[in-house]
Amino acid sequence: MRILYVEDNEINQALVERVIRAKQHTVLFREDGEGALALLAEDPAIDLILLDIELAGAISGMDVIKEMRSRGDARPVVAVTAYAMMGDRERFLEAGCDQYLPKPLNIVDLLALLDEYDAELSARHDGDAPAQAAPPQEPATPQDAPAPATDSPPPPPREAAPPDSPGAASATAPEKPPAGNGRAPAHEENPA
Ligand code: MN
Repeated sequence: MRILYVEDNEINQALVERVIRAKQHTVLFREDGEGALALLAEDPAIDLILLDIELAGAISGMDVIKEMRSRGDARPVVAVTAYAMMGDRERFLEAGCDQYLPKPLNIVDLLALLDEYDAELSARHDGDAPAQAAPPQEPATPQDAPAPATDSPPPPPREAAPPDSPGAASATAPEKPPAGNGRAPAHEENPA
């Protein structure tokens, strides 16, 4: 991307320059609103404007954004400012800024913002390509066909767990009563 950073503070310029160059983008600087408006009028290749509000010249960043929009310049503008008062963000957005990035600048937020606009710009350029007639959408195939039956057999019945039968295990043969009376059998002598 080709980025214009309108900023009168050199430390912020240096920080943003490092981040933008690290992302392989080009950055131009202006320290005042007059110079920024002049550059924007003559450089249609600028893709994105980062705009400080309190500038070195006679006009503010608010004047810059208002003048841009009144010119019909719709390029994205991100207000970059330390204004922290409630309502400032809305004021910038109402004036025509697309986003607001507070100072001190958070590098992670700045990187995310650059990626966001880079992706948006790529998408817009793709959209600029000769309009290719999109093929008519085929009606969606009905998805109400029954699901194929599964051939898997029903799960085998669970084996019944062996009943807990303590009685069977402890069954013992009943004790035999002693046979006879303990006396020797009487021998009957056959008297002849
Ligand atoms: Mn400033």
